[in-house]
Amino acid sequence: MKFYNTLTKKKEEFVPLVPGKVSMYVCGPTVYNFIHIGNARPMIVFDTARRYMEHKGYEVNYVSNFTDVDDKIIAKAIEEGVPAQEISERYIRECKQDMADLNVKPATTHPQATQEIDGMIGMISTLMEKGYAYNVNGTVYFRTRKFNEYGKLSHKNLDDLRSGNRSLLVSGEDQKEDPLDFVLWKPKKEGEPYWESPWSQGRPGWHIECSVMAKKYLGEEIDIHAGGEDLVFPHHENEIAQSECCNGKIFARYWLHNGFLNIDNRKMSKSLGNFFTVREIKEKYDLQVLRFFMLSAHYRSPLNFSAELMEASKNGLERIVNAVDNLNYLEENAAGTDMTSQEEASMEEVKAFEARFDEAMDDDLNTADAISVIFELVKYANTRVTAENSKAFIGAVRAEILELGDVLGLILEKKEEELLAEDIEKLIEERQAARKAKDFARADEIRNTLLDRGIVLLDTREGVKWKKA
Ligand code: AMP
Ligand code: ZN
Repeated sequence: MKFYNTLTKKKEEFVPLVPGKVSMYVCGPTVYNFIHIGNARPMIVFDTARRYMEHKGYEVNYVSNFTDVDDKIIAKAIEEGVPAQEISERYIRECKQDMADLNVKPATTHPQATQEIDGMIGMISTLMEKGYAYNVNGTVYFRTRKFNEYGKLSHKNLDDLRSGNRSLLVSGEDQKEDPLDFVLWKPKKEGEPYWESPWSQGRPGWHIECSVMAKKYLGEEIDIHAGGEDLVFPHHENEIAQSECCNGKIFARYWLHNGFLNIDNRKMSKSLGNFFTVREIKEKYDLQVLRFFMLSAHYRSPLNFSAELMEASKNGLERIVNAVDNLNYLEENAAGTDMTSQEEASMEEVKAFEARFDEAMDDDLNTADAISVIFELVKYANTRVTAENSKAFIGAVRAEILELGDVLGLILEKKEEELLAEDIEKLIEERQAARKAKDFARADEIRNTLLDRGIVLLDTREGVKWKKA
């Protein structure tokens, strides 16, 4: 199994620190709003990496944080007039819902920055003792130039960085010894959440969170550290500096970064306003379609989001789901039970698809090629498997498709179609119209239809609302 390592700029054979075990840290979202589908890309691709490693027999300790203290969270809290914690808790809950809908497995641990402040104060103290950090009026900075290897991940030259950065000196930052120094701890401003520390009442910088949480839940040396490519510099570069200076060990062996999800060839981001939330997409599509779309490209390539590509993904996914459904039907109607010797021989062909699937995934998680292999297996099922086959053989072909789908986190069994939000709304409108026309029988019928599909209607003063039962 090979991964492209940002640190060495090479595809490298993956060798874990402990045979059979993988420790993996993936930077998670800052929780101040619903996640957008750009944020969903690392969640999906690194969940797929985890699933593939589990498929290969590794035990994966997967840690992904929630950044629950941040300027943006505080700004949103002020806007709504509620405590910051209420904002972060709400959006952690919503994010977990989106992850479940995307069939992203919960991490082994989902630490939250605000629960780990002691560890951060501990690491900052160690960095101060070792001379890697200094306090100016309650703000603690990391002394970047003291770490000779700074820049090794982003392949940036320290001198270039320094001269490029000099012009970036902004007011309030002139107390730094060097423009490249970054914040480890900052004092609170009026009304902000804060914690006691030896330096000031304040809160940690963003980068220190991940160094601390990775160390606490995975150890000083970890196998894989991952995130979107925008995190390479400065976030991951700073994490390396903090962790390696504190622990005196190589922090992470393999650094994996996903490319951007774009829209009209620009990065999808909250600040540009060009985003769709996962929730918005869910109103139009089963989120399995979104997952399939994300995996149809290599994780390091940029991926442009468009309605056409989503439709193509929907059709592609349907083709696989229909093949599985057809195998279910054939199995029910199959004449024989046990595999014939000829079928046993054919199983070698079926297994060969899995070997090719693995080969694609071994090559730096080439999910696009892996999906092509699933399509070939589907074609095999559609053309070579009939009701003349035994139940055992038909079942084995189906199990193979389901297994490969599961490695990609795709659920390929037909489920009773969930009603989309827009369909529900249409039915509610129709019911309102029926009530107006005093056609109460029709109105009740619609209410019951929705109830059968797990949708409860609530008549409120603001109109009819609905929720899942
Ligand atoms: P943030 O909440 O902005 O810190 O982002 C959480 C994760 O989503 C990080 O790993 C980012 O790199 C990633 N991310 C944000 N926007 C995009 C995008 N448009 N495409 C791919 N990954 C993204
Ligand atoms: Zn991080």
